[in-house]
Amino acid sequence: MAFYSHILLAVDFTRVTDSVARQAVEMCQAFKARLSLVHVVEFTQMDLSNDLILPQELEFEQELIKQSRLRLEELAVKLGLKKSECFVSQGSTRREILRLAKELNTDLIVVGSHGREGIQRLLGSTANAVLHGAPCDVLAVRVKGESVE
Ligand code: AMP
Repeated sequence: MAFYSHILLAVDFTRVTDSVARQAVEMCQAFKARLSLVHVVEFTQMDLSNDLILPQELEFEQELIKQSRLRLEELAVKLGLKKSECFVSQGSTRREILRLAKELNTDLIVVGSHGREGIQRLLGSTANAVLHGAPCDVLAVRVKGESVE
């Protein structure tokens, strides 16, 4: 059986977050592993035709990052983790999750999987994207009977 010592949970703050987090915590308890949380704030530049980033856009992004950190820390406290286990990154979700997994040398990444159908499946999911570039194992927790929205 594989032995995990450091698990990275990717948090998107949708309704499935709690059940995915619960599963990650149970795995950590089973393996006596360290658990870190990551949330990625995707780029939100309003006008892609404009090379200039306006000050209000920067302020908006800084505020998003601040709010995300607060939410992630709240979740960490709820899960019995230290705030220092929270990581908020900015950029591409896939790239940032993989970068952090490498940086922290985690041996398991836990993501939610929503079992998409049709066009959504063709477009791919974060779980799928993470799986394909991961430096370690990936657990896609299938959340049944819940919608992402
Ligand atoms: P998605 O394929 O985008 O519906 O997301 C599936 C899973 O990827 C979520 O349950 C999270 O574990 C992870 N995820 C998606 N977006 C983010 C994000 N912005 N930051 C961190 N993890 C994310």
